[in-house]
Amino acid sequence: MEKKEVKSELIIERELDELRDSFRSGKTREASWRRSQLKQILSFLQDKEQDILHALQQDLSKHPAESFRDEIGTSIKSVNYALEGLNKWMSPNKAKMPLAAFPSTAEVVPEPLGLVLIISSWNFPFGLSLEPLIGAIASGNVVVLKPSELAPSSSSVLAKMVGTYLDKTAIRIMEGGSSVGELLLQQKWDKIFFTGSARVGRIVMLAAVKNLTPVILELGGKCPAVVDSLPCSNKKMAVKRILSGKFGVCAGQACLAIDYILTEKRFVSTLLEEMKVLLKEQYGDNPMETKSVARIINKQHFSRFEDLLHDPSIKDSIVHGGSFDKDGLFIEPTILIDPPLKSSIMTEEIFGPLLPIITLERIEDSVEFIKSRSNPLAIYAFTHDKTLQNRLINETSSGSLVFNDTIVQYAIDTVPFGGVGESGFGKYHGKFSFDAFTHEKVIVRRSYLIDFWFRYPPWDYKKMQLFKAGYRYDYLNIALIALGFKKSY
Ligand code: NAD
Repeated sequence: MEKKEVKSELIIERELDELRDSFRSGKTREASWRRSQLKQILSFLQDKEQDILHALQQDLSKHPAESFRDEIGTSIKSVNYALEGLNKWMSPNKAKMPLAAFPSTAEVVPEPLGLVLIISSWNFPFGLSLEPLIGAIASGNVVVLKPSELAPSSSSVLAKMVGTYLDKTAIRIMEGGSSVGELLLQQKWDKIFFTGSARVGRIVMLAAVKNLTPVILELGGKCPAVVDSLPCSNKKMAVKRILSGKFGVCAGQACLAIDYILTEKRFVSTLLEEMKVLLKEQYGDNPMETKSVARIINKQHFSRFEDLLHDPSIKDSIVHGGSFDKDGLFIEPTILIDPPLKSSIMTEEIFGPLLPIITLERIEDSVEFIKSRSNPLAIYAFTHDKTLQNRLINETSSGSLVFNDTIVQYAIDTVPFGGVGESGFGKYHGKFSFDAFTHEKVIVRRSYLIDFWFRYPPWDYKKMQLFKAGYRYDYLNIALIALGFKKSY
């Protein structure tokens, strides 16, 4: 066992040396290289659509429609967005110059960081690997991608993509579990982009310290949905969006999925009734047979849900669902009302199809409820109340705050995606993905045309007065002091 690990380490080191050589050759800096690799990802997504859908079916029993929406469609959109923006993103940006630097020009030149590591999660094995990969390629880096071992079919399709569609001299995939991850973390990287749990995020950060490697941590947490008593006119639509933000995204195995709902006591029965009607509409009379809810990733995670459901303290809270099929790794969309706040379901990230509803006397109490817990990746709020909206904006902190819908923020290229506090740090998507793997280098060009005599020693009182006026851009007084008409400023 030990021998194999040592060998793996040697192979990894050799492969990384090859990648560094490739980066040094300068080819990944070329816009043409970046463009060709991005187009190859597009070709992969188009040519291998069936293989991708099949892999997701095998790993998670995701319905092809859901898989296409969340993994292929979003990735196609992101590649196209990067191809469209690439020329502009790569262009240097001229800077405005202060008087102190006159006469000179300055610009910010985006340059690739070098060798970057992407470690991804299993719940959206394609999307969460390709989205950062698109950014790393667009910004001209050489890349190692380590997908999750828990979605082996998807990992193997990704490996084939890297092997056949992408430039192997610059982009490699290293499949495997935590042991491979640990070996990779021992290497020197120019950036580590990690998607996963806060537990492993801490391991990543500790490893990065050794070489002062910058990291981006895309983590999870408990995303609340505040549901105010809704007017009849949009109650149905709101509940559809709530259910889709839980059971409709990988059966709730999504970092952005609603973890729990906060609503008023007087509204909870109306909300529950509407949810039951729509669950029946969407998943049929026998939800155990539905093909529209993904399955739990593996037996280990399934046992976690069994433990949650068998917790005696929550037994009486289950108001809908609660059945499961261990062999089929399926858990029926399940709703609970007021499980104890100290129970595991309310203290740990659920990451599955169990949806607790916590009732409050007043919906305004949701603000304190959220504030007293870790910063979530997302907060959802279904309310028309402007005061409550403003309180949520001003008093809570989260990666994103979405009013009247769920998950949509993930698909908006023009806004950053990322967490805050326990839900991670750093951001990506769209141009932010390019920036995530870019160093903004400053180039200053000075002219010999003019030189201000007062910038050099020996220092005296007059020079100090000139600095004082200079930093205030007070041209009149600069002239007066320089010509001796004014002594002090
Ligand atoms: P995880 O932390 O167990 O694993 C993530 C990745 O890290 C996998 O590739 C895994 O092989 C690797 N890994 C595990 N142990 C490692 C180690 N010791 N050293 C190096 N690498 C190691 O997380 P997961 O189960 O894949 O994902 C679930 C978590 O991820 C949830 O908390 C969820 O909220 C979060 N998540 C966040 C986002 C986001 O975009 N913010 C997206 C998906 C999932």
